[in-house]
Amino acid sequence: MQGSGRFGFVLLMLACLLALIAPANASTLAASEYKMAGDATRMRVVVQFDREPEMRWFLLRGPNRLVIDLPETDLRSDGRDLKGRGLISSVRFGGVGNGRSRLILTAKGPFSVERIDVIANEDAKGFRLIADITASSDREFEQALADQAQTTGSTVSTRKTDRVGQTFDLVKRPFTVVLDPGHGGIDGGAEGINGAVEKEITLAFARELKESLEKAGPFRVFLTRDNDAFLRLDERVRIARQHEADLLISIHADTIRLKGIRGATVYTVSDRASDAEAAALAVRENLSDQLAGIEIEEDNHEVSDILVDLIRRETHSFSIQFARSLIGQLSTSVELINNPHREAGFRVLKAPDVPSVLVELGYLSNEKDEAQLRDPDWRGKAAERIAAAVADFASQKARVGG
Ligand code: ZN
Repeated sequence: MQGSGRFGFVLLMLACLLALIAPANASTLAASEYKMAGDATRMRVVVQFDREPEMRWFLLRGPNRLVIDLPETDLRSDGRDLKGRGLISSVRFGGVGNGRSRLILTAKGPFSVERIDVIANEDAKGFRLIADITASSDREFEQALADQAQTTGSTVSTRKTDRVGQTFDLVKRPFTVVLDPGHGGIDGGAEGINGAVEKEITLAFARELKESLEKAGPFRVFLTRDNDAFLRLDERVRIARQHEADLLISIHADTIRLKGIRGATVYTVSDRASDAEAAALAVRENLSDQLAGIEIEEDNHEVSDILVDLIRRETHSFSIQFARSLIGQLSTSVELINNPHREAGFRVLKAPDVPSVLVELGYLSNEKDEAQLRDPDWRGKAAERIAAAVADFASQKARVGG
């Protein structure tokens, strides 16, 4: 017994020594490139390998992480590529002993793994690992962790149909509204002729609207920001998805060149703007990110997936339904612009699975509108009307079985 134990020990020591002495040898994989692209709502990670890597992945919480285990890999990448951005706040890569290497992607919040694959390069030698992750809710992340615990290998990815939108009626929970006070921090938004600042008005209004909503129904209400912080547009969308919002209302009060124009407008998203002013406004609002020196990566990796397309279309019709009911409610006590429902390509309204509208409460370029926006009584009235529209929308959705 003792003899064989000692023999085993010697073997183990020998193995350890060999492992120490062995240089980065032929069995070490070479990863020649690490690339990451996307924003706070979705990211793609691509790693290039000289040979086919055998990989295994799993999720960890606190913070939300995707861990990818690989054979010992020598990653040649300058640190810039590994700097966190978008949905991924940090990237770590290194050896974990026993001839293994590990890639840890830490996310800003819960996410879903849409896809994780190793595929052969079509027009070059080698293989690439592709991981697509999208911002999701805590509940979806927990569900993925539970699924992972059941599939011990954990290399089995969750089916696509388990994700976006599908889980809607699994859990009964109160109707959830995310209010998004426009602008903030370095991005002050528009300025009124008598000095009102858009970012302050939108925040004050969002707080009041939260109160009105909490009185109007058993709603869960969140604000994307509750202070004077700068927030990227895609971060606002991510927060809505994190809370599994049933509705996102982005709040603004902009200016327009024609000082006579006044009244509220409700916008929904569309690739084609309803009119020139709506198009110009969307361009201005979308510039917000650039104030903070953020380079905007164009949405070149929008998923063309039939399921996601269907969900997007359904979401869009819900957004329009809410916009109409909102205009109906507002018209009873708030001045509206001509054609008060307009459309344009607002980035903040682009969550595929969250019905979203942007409300311009009025124009800070108009003296009367500006005075109203500064008047808590007027704001209270407007908030009450919006809360009534939300209550209508929530009860309609409940009836449809959503
Ligand atoms: Zn604005």
